[in-house]
Amino acid sequence: CQHLVVVLGDQLDRDASAFDGFDPARDLVWMCEAVEESTHVWSSQQRIVMFLSAMRHFAAALEADGVPLHYETLREGSLADALREAIAQAKPQRVRLTQPGDWRVLQALRQAAGTTPLDVLEDRHFLCSAARFAAHARGRRQLRMEYFYREMRREHGVLMDGDQPCGGTWNFDADNRASFGPNGPGFLPPPTRFDPDASTQAVIALVQARFAGHPGQAAPFGWPVTRAQALEALRAFVDERLEHFGRWQDAMWTGEPWLYHAHLSAALNLKLLNPREVIAAAEAAWRSGRVPLSSAEGFIRQILGWREYVRGIYWLRMPDCAEDNALAARHDLPAWYWNGDTPMRCLADAIDQTLRHGYAHHIQRLMVTGLYALLHGVRPQQVHAWYLSVYVDAVEWVELPNTLGMSQFADGGLLASKPYIATGRYIERMSDHCRACRFDPGERVGERACPFTTLYWDFLLRHETRFASHPRLAAQVKNLARLDAAQRDAIRARARAVREGRFA
Ligand code: FAD
Ligand code: SF4
Repeated sequence: CQHLVVVLGDQLDRDASAFDGFDPARDLVWMCEAVEESTHVWSSQQRIVMFLSAMRHFAAALEADGVPLHYETLREGSLADALREAIAQAKPQRVRLTQPGDWRVLQALRQAAGTTPLDVLEDRHFLCSAARFAAHARGRRQLRMEYFYREMRREHGVLMDGDQPCGGTWNFDADNRASFGPNGPGFLPPPTRFDPDASTQAVIALVQARFAGHPGQAAPFGWPVTRAQALEALRAFVDERLEHFGRWQDAMWTGEPWLYHAHLSAALNLKLLNPREVIAAAEAAWRSGRVPLSSAEGFIRQILGWREYVRGIYWLRMPDCAEDNALAARHDLPAWYWNGDTPMRCLADAIDQTLRHGYAHHIQRLMVTGLYALLHGVRPQQVHAWYLSVYVDAVEWVELPNTLGMSQFADGGLLASKPYIATGRYIERMSDHCRACRFDPGERVGERACPFTTLYWDFLLRHETRFASHPRLAAQVKNLARLDAAQRDAIRARARAVREGRFA
């Protein structure tokens, strides 16, 4: 053939650049379910079903349109080996590929192409190219999402009144921090879930057989796996949940995994949805008076701001940033991260829903599972492997900067201006978890001490020198001055016990 067009599991978009000028008479699409993509990290069953099912539906749509396709169903070994073989068979003049979302995959495919020319094309899905982001970053000692976000708003004319932000302010973050209060969320709109069709059912059975030892469960499975389903999920979110998204963005409640979130990250990351249409739908809902500006802005900031920003950082800093460990964290990830078997109610709840659905919302990832790992002092690369494994939306370009930068401060403050640390009091304020927990978020030592609270103080002690004059953390560090030597020793001893799982 003339062109072998490689389509990866997170590139399910007919408008992707690899399809530009596609000639069905001479070109061939190649897709492959390589087992190694599910085993290089211990991928959860929900995540594997998500990718394989969406790939198969995309392939079926291509075939229905008469697009020549070579599709390899679950194949042992690596993607690179599979591509090498495909090139040997098809003997293309060139291989075409939209820029992958994973640096490792890009290197492997470059090698696999060998002497056949490989065109790596810009991923137009994103509003900000890697080059545009590099221009933004050039000459700045520190990067801040907020400034990047404002540039994006201006550049793309999103929520703008002329050259001013709609509502007179760029950011309604302060309105986005409510908790549900003691009585809980009350009525919640049901999440948009899709019954698995025959194709998805076959994938579920396959995953249950081939990946039986992998974390979590393959069914029930209700994620959108086609573009039509993704559009329906977007419509339902905007109509039913966006109104309240902003206000309760940070709130948590036991046994309620979905709340007012969008649940669109997997559809976006697999490219079933385009961020421009998602942003436009949210802005239109505000302009037509259906949702408050604080909700529309809060949501758009996540997509036009954070999502583009972390991708820019990933391509700016890979591969070096993968080894970042600014706080020299050295402990192993506790084994219960893989099964939720811990007496800490907040963690048990977040991990349970993660393994069940492949989903947790941002504050659960940042301020429950992420915060615990940071305070415990887990090696960031192990934390990264966990996040990349368990979520249906996990692709390295977005997962790695969020985990290493935002959540673990492993980049020393490039992505976020300070480590997100807190005692159990934060979780108590934002959820109902502590009510049913045997620990007390107000206690830092003793058998009832909340492990978050103990480890928070231990974190400050361990990093006292480093953060003593940090502009945003110094106030917290100052509180250590009130502790005498015996109190410090007690915190350290209890922290040791918590790390070793000796709670009683
Ligand atoms: P909503 O809360 O409804 O937000 C709307 C959309 O905004 C999301 O769908 C997502 O596309 C985007 N978004 C929100 N926050 C971020 C962010 N910090 N970075 C990038 N995009 C964002 N997101 C992923 O898509 N894949 C990951 O692998 C991933 N790993 C994470 C790991 C950690 C440690 C942390 C703290 C965050 C991670 N995030 C990741 C970001 C965020 O938590 C998820 O995008 C979000 O929870 C997905 O749920 P939702 O679609 O209901 O999002
Ligand atoms: Fe989590 Fe501590 Fe609250 Fe228990 S007391 S739920 S461990 S924050």
